[in-house]
Amino acid sequence: MHIASVGVSKLCFLCSLAFCGLLLLLIPAFQPPSRLGDLPQPRPHARPARAGGGSANTLRRPGAPAVSVHAGETALATWLNGSTTETEVTRSGDQGPGRGTDSRKSPEGGALPGGGKGGGLAGSRSRDPLELKDIFIAVKTTRKYHKSRLELLFQTWVSRAKEQTYIFTDGEDKELRRKAGANIINTNCSAAHTRQALCCKMSVEYDKFIESQKKWFCHMDDDNYVILPSLLRLLASYHHSQDVYLGRPSLDHPIEAAERVKSDGSVSVKFWFATGGAGFCISRGLALKMSPWASLGNFISTAEKIRLPDDCTIGYIIEALLEVALTHTHLFHSHLESLQKLPTDTVLEQVTLSYGGFENRRNVVSIGGGFSLVEDPSRFKTVHCLLYPDTDWCPRVNPRQKN
Ligand code: UDP
Ligand code: MN
Repeated sequence: MHIASVGVSKLCFLCSLAFCGLLLLLIPAFQPPSRLGDLPQPRPHARPARAGGGSANTLRRPGAPAVSVHAGETALATWLNGSTTETEVTRSGDQGPGRGTDSRKSPEGGALPGGGKGGGLAGSRSRDPLELKDIFIAVKTTRKYHKSRLELLFQTWVSRAKEQTYIFTDGEDKELRRKAGANIINTNCSAAHTRQALCCKMSVEYDKFIESQKKWFCHMDDDNYVILPSLLRLLASYHHSQDVYLGRPSLDHPIEAAERVKSDGSVSVKFWFATGGAGFCISRGLALKMSPWASLGNFISTAEKIRLPDDCTIGYIIEALLEVALTHTHLFHSHLESLQKLPTDTVLEQVTLSYGGFENRRNVVSIGGGFSLVEDPSRFKTVHCLLYPDTDWCPRVNPRQKN
């Protein structure tokens, strides 16, 4: 009896040991899922420009030399080729007027898919693919250009991004409002081409973007063509919570201004800025950080303090005050550069195009298609029909065969 009870207690002891062992083995299975899954994941090929050895969201000391990197082009090449190496990131030293496209590295892999469906995007491989509706596209215009410039945009690229394109103008226009409804914003800013008037418009653009809750802010002029699939692809290679400022400088050196925001103007500050005429984009994460100097009229007073135009003021806030470097990209184009130098077979891979100088020296991209220079002096219709051949007003013939 006694021996039997000793045996039973030994058995109980062994059983409880085995039970404890089992519990220890099961502990990891009962733990809550890793919190890492909630953190923003890097995009498959997220690679902000390295400026001075850091990434675009790395702080750079003011005055430190900025190294420009074609991050967007690498992102594009990466997407086209499926992989890339660090050495594929190229440097450029000059993007000045007339020289902007010379040193450009063409993304390999041929033309981008047309048709504008935006399929096969880099971001689509991640859990949170970027969509056109995530981008706030602001177009700056003025009353006198509603007919001569805006109509062409509505006929072409804006028709493919109606919901996300917002027109910032300075005068009421019933016809325009009928066409674009709530997306026409009358800023009530002056129609003059003065620094104050342009900064007034930029200030309204910024506030409307913040209000929109969208992930990216892209500013365009009314003489820009936006190649939407390229824009989407470029932005999808970054994350909107990163500090990203993407664009093209019009100068080959940083601008210098008297520092009147952080000090009394006795010292100067050097910074890069993306020229507004080529369009530029800012991530929401970075835009929110700009708020003390940009929201609710503060943009106008910041611009007044440094006495520089709207696009320079954006560069000043981001580079000089927030110490975030501009990611230089050659995919954005203004008419300050020689647009005909852009290789024809890369035109559809760009993010923005522009045109200028019809009257005297014509400055347009060199691209052939269904329209002559007389029918399509800006080349925007030609570009549009190559991108979206299904458009009802596009020539039915294969536009590549006609010149
Ligand atoms: N613009 C404006 N008010 C004006 C003149 C121009 O808002 O009085 C806008 C215009 O619609 C365009 C941008 O400013 O979006 C640049 O104008 P433009 O292309 O005429 O000049 P540039 O590119 O030579 O600076
Ligand atoms: Mn212009």
